[in-house]
Amino acid sequence: MSGLVREGLEWVSQATGTRWVAVIGLEVHAQLSTRTKLFCGCAYEFGAEPNTRVCPVCTGQPGSLPVLNAEALELAVRAALALGCEVAPRSKFDRKNYFYCDLPKNYQITQYDRPYCSGGGIDLDSGRRVRLERIHVEEDAGKAIHDRGDATLVDFNRAGVPLIESVTHADLCCPEDAGAYLAALREILVYVGASSADMEKGELRCDVNVSVHPAGEPWRTKVEVKNLNSFSNVEASIEYEIARQVAAWESSDPADHPVQETRLWDAGANRTRTMRKKEGEADYRYFPEPDLPPVSVTPALLEATRALLPELPAARRARYQRELGLSAYDAGVLTAARDVADFFEAAARLSGAPKDACNWITNEVLRALSGDEVAATSVDELPMKPHDLSELIALVRGGTLSASAARQVVRAMMQSGKAAGELVVELGLEQVQDDGELERWCREALAGREAIAAQVREGHEKALGALMGPVMQASKGKANPQKVREILLRLIQEG
Ligand SMILES: [Zn+2]
Repeated sequence: MSGLVREGLEWVSQATGTRWVAVIGLEVHAQLSTRTKLFCGCAYEFGAEPNTRVCPVCTGQPGSLPVLNAEALELAVRAALALGCEVAPRSKFDRKNYFYCDLPKNYQITQYDRPYCSGGGIDLDSGRRVRLERIHVEEDAGKAIHDRGDATLVDFNRAGVPLIESVTHADLCCPEDAGAYLAALREILVYVGASSADMEKGELRCDVNVSVHPAGEPWRTKVEVKNLNSFSNVEASIEYEIARQVAAWESSDPADHPVQETRLWDAGANRTRTMRKKEGEADYRYFPEPDLPPVSVTPALLEATRALLPELPAARRARYQRELGLSAYDAGVLTAARDVADFFEAAARLSGAPKDACNWITNEVLRALSGDEVAATSVDELPMKPHDLSELIALVRGGTLSASAARQVVRAMMQSGKAAGELVVELGLEQVQDDGELERWCREALAGREAIAAQVREGHEKALGALMGPVMQASKGKANPQKVREILLRLIQEG
């Protein structure tokens, strides 16, 4: 399957010279962050003892009846509004019938022809837009575990957990766009609190549809690759499918051509393999769920949800660059997690110094959180609050603290939560402003360094650095560098 050279958004076959383009669509399942399951009161917990988070409803016992979890609907609506979707005032649930050992009812409750929302989409940094066709609410299945010798074990804890499945139009044209879309979708769902979207816990799962055709020709048969659980698997499986399908189409034997099917990604072998030939929709015998009334989303719920929506990451990034003068890189780092962005905005507002706040957070705070010098693992858990950081910024700006002393204070604040002013005194870090003492250190530094002084006198001000060092050392970092500079220059001119 070699002999394919990527040129922009085309793949050129070295054997035939044909320019191939890819058509890609994504279906993403995201687990809603509700306390309980979609239709019963069971609380799901990742990693819990198997079959301990179950009840008659989610295991499909005769006579049990589902009741829609209002919180799930609210979170689903939140996701829809954040993605610019049109929320339907009325939608309904349907049964999708199939037999599998992880599906205790022998059907899944989902939304078929009337999903709760449609439209919307995400603008990628590449400038291309990915349109959403729809999002619907459905329940998850349990988990079948096949790797225990002869037996298949079943854990129903996950059965009935609320999901939203978002389906894009086939607007994507390369693996990187698919990765970028998934990252943006994940970021939005996490930001608005609809889903934690932790891929390692299976809270975000992706299926991709891929087809290829020669540029300018009609679309061809699409192939689905299911259950991709990491960004790299999504991109790698698309890359692989493009190469596989081009080779298959270019085969002289029509029997080799791609067929409509579902494939699985084998990450170990770095390839896809056939899972099953595609069932038609009729196979599922969809019909309206008789045990649930239609879903209605009132204008009041819509408005209340809209009012609670935070400003989304892309909008924040643009605003930080436009209004606060931050670089695209810094804006990206600050908005990657909502708690960090909220912390930054509060500190920037309180201190009136957004760039300083940005530097402290990106250089010190995030670094400390990723290491083990503080107990907290997120900004929210830090004992240091935005007003503490703004106080520190004021102390540096006012000349009380040198930059290096301030770094010691910020570390101590992240560990203890004590106020900056208190720590400055406790750690004995107050900057020395007393001219007499500063001048004594400067004279000591000049003694025996006549050559450097001469250079400075001749206009090489950079040479001053070689004198600043000894002064800062003598003062244990507490000398005010601006004042030291002035004094040194004065002494050199006088000398
Ligand atoms: Zn239950």
